[in-house]
Amino acid sequence: MTIARDHSPLVFTHRALPQRVRFGTGHAARNVASEISDAGALRVMLIASEAKLAMARTVTGSVEPALIWTDVVQHVPAAVAEAARVEAVRAGVDLIVSVGGGSTTGLAKAIALTTGIPIVAVPTTYAGSEATNVWGLTEGARKTTGVDDRVLPGAVVYDAELTLSLPVELSVTSGLNGVAHCVDSLWAPRADPINAALAAEGIRALATGLRGVVADPGGLAGREQAQFGAYLAAVAFASAGSGLHHKICHVLGGTYDLPHAQTHAIVLPYVTAFNVGAAPAAERAIARALDASDAVEGLDALRDDVGAPSALRDLGFDPDRIREAAEIILPQVPASNPRPVDLDSLQLLLGAAADGRSSETLRGR
Ligand code: NAD
Repeated sequence: MTIARDHSPLVFTHRALPQRVRFGTGHAARNVASEISDAGALRVMLIASEAKLAMARTVTGSVEPALIWTDVVQHVPAAVAEAARVEAVRAGVDLIVSVGGGSTTGLAKAIALTTGIPIVAVPTTYAGSEATNVWGLTEGARKTTGVDDRVLPGAVVYDAELTLSLPVELSVTSGLNGVAHCVDSLWAPRADPINAALAAEGIRALATGLRGVVADPGGLAGREQAQFGAYLAAVAFASAGSGLHHKICHVLGGTYDLPHAQTHAIVLPYVTAFNVGAAPAAERAIARALDASDAVEGLDALRDDVGAPSALRDLGFDPDRIREAAEIILPQVPASNPRPVDLDSLQLLLGAAADGRSSETLRGR
């Protein structure tokens, strides 16, 4: 066998997270029951927002929770987390079942972080928090994130039927949050060929799924693909770590209280346009996954097809805060970013995203 002269050896260290995934449309109640029984849990805490409680009760079936918690707030305020921890310990909870989007999963993680209580996560959006060991808490308008294996749900139960009620607009932004996990994984600090493969398939599945959801919001085919892609995206992100895109969005969400999924959906093309010229392998992977000749054009076409939001201003972001935001973000930019980042380039990027201007001006080679 001959090896091509330009062959670069595959040398990397990849860490996979231990987690059971039960995927099945219409099977959530059965799968959650199996998880509760396998865990031998006797005192279940059910976390779901008030709006999702009826759905959550169908998912836990005949199991009567020892504690039901409905105070779910985006970005997990530290005070809410602390109140929930106190109640969980007081009630002697031995398993948490969370039914909801990333905010609900995030609260379960915050409880697990200090108590070690295991989690069965039942996601109802495409945010992907259920497949990561990343936690987030907000205090004093600053979002703190950290990595701890205690917060990784031991099991995830996916059921596309639970996402049918997610409005198309939220489905689109949540799914683009998933695409952002994939894209950012390609240049994040622990990017490797395994998480790159997951990311590429995640982009493909999410793009197919989101177009399917928009074409047929009440159908399950697009929603299943979107959910599958969201899982791949989150596994890639958990393995590769946070890249430039996530650092920007965490500051925008935590400091300016911008909605998570919408912020990701808007910022993604700008970070992509900024980085791809310096990351040719990532550019090829994104373009191929989107069946496009150019990564940014492929993303723009997807965003057009699904009617993605385009300007941070529309979320209430005040452009007068651009310099301040850039100053907070800059020290957090990972050294792995393919293109050097400074205060000026961050301000340009945020300015374009604030106004929803074309990302073309950010391209660099
Ligand atoms: P979310 O959980 O805040 O949900 C958004 C809205 O959608 C809420 O009003 C919710 O009630 C509603 N909703 C959820 N599921 C629904 C359904 N099936 N039908 C109808 N409405 C539904 O939003 P999100 O985008 O899922 O999660 C955002 C949060 O998750 C942020 O705090 C973010 O930081 C965190 N997150 C964390 C990670 C991680 O790895 N730690 C990854 C992704 C997101």
